Amino acid sequence: MKNPKSPEPAKTPHASAGTSKAAAASTATRASAKAKRAARRPRIPYSKDEIREIFRRFSVQRPEPRGELEHVNPFTLVVAVALSAQATDAGVNKATRALFQVADTPEKMLDLGEDRVRDYIKTIGLYRNKAKNVIALSRKLVDDFGGEVPRTREELVTLPGVGRKTANVVMSMAFGIPTLAVDTHVFRIGNRLRIAPGKTPDEVEASFMRIIPEDYLFHAHHWLILHGRYCCKARKPECERCVIADICKSKEKTTDVAAPLVELPEQVI
Ligand code: SF4
Repeated sequence: MKNPKSPEPAKTPHASAGTSKAAAASTATRASAKAKRAARRPRIPYSKDEIREIFRRFSVQRPEPRGELEHVNPFTLVVAVALSAQATDAGVNKATRALFQVADTPEKMLDLGEDRVRDYIKTIGLYRNKAKNVIALSRKLVDDFGGEVPRTREELVTLPGVGRKTANVVMSMAFGIPTLAVDTHVFRIGNRLRIAPGKTPDEVEASFMRIIPEDYLFHAHHWLILHGRYCCKARKPECERCVIADICKSKEKTTDVAAPLVELPEQVI
């Protein structure tokens, strides 16, 4: 604690002027960086309260949303998500049910070999390349990660066939780390509603991450996917069934009246 009797250190007028000039310059730099960041951020037509209300309603509709890709452990989740690129979850599940019964670890997948993996997944688009990737990612997991799926995005994206979206899904679903994977539905909703606009999935992800209230972040990915899949559909949004129709600022919406807010049945969770 400062001794009240001890004299204040003498400040020379020169030093004081220099210090305050430096402080002013640093404040100006910070303000200008902040202004630049703000200018780069797209303006959105929603208030904080409206955004919170949108996610609150999603949470009432689907209190415990689940992903639709079947898996039995983090490894099979990585494989399922990697196989789901340009394929439906239902199509992937059909193929992986039998595959995961014989190979639910990277070691077993390597034992199975690329030809047999290809046979199991041949109903999925781009199956030849995907079979190669499944074997290559199993090899890398065994060689570099002791057969365990890593938890960080930086490590996950080093696996063959695993991009940022897959890594985000795995981090969230396998390890409970809140992330927002941007698939076609999330991308469309961000732009259609003008709530998280962006030209690329990474831009939409960054926009959503800035606005989603922290307490809703964990489930936001599934809420947005399911809202896009079952209500705010690509070709024709079903606005009359939409619980956020009164808040939505999409130019494509067809009603201002929100649908009744009730918990949805199992098949659309
Ligand atoms: S009101 Fe229509 S456009 Fe807006 S979120 Fe709902 S379904 Fe989509």
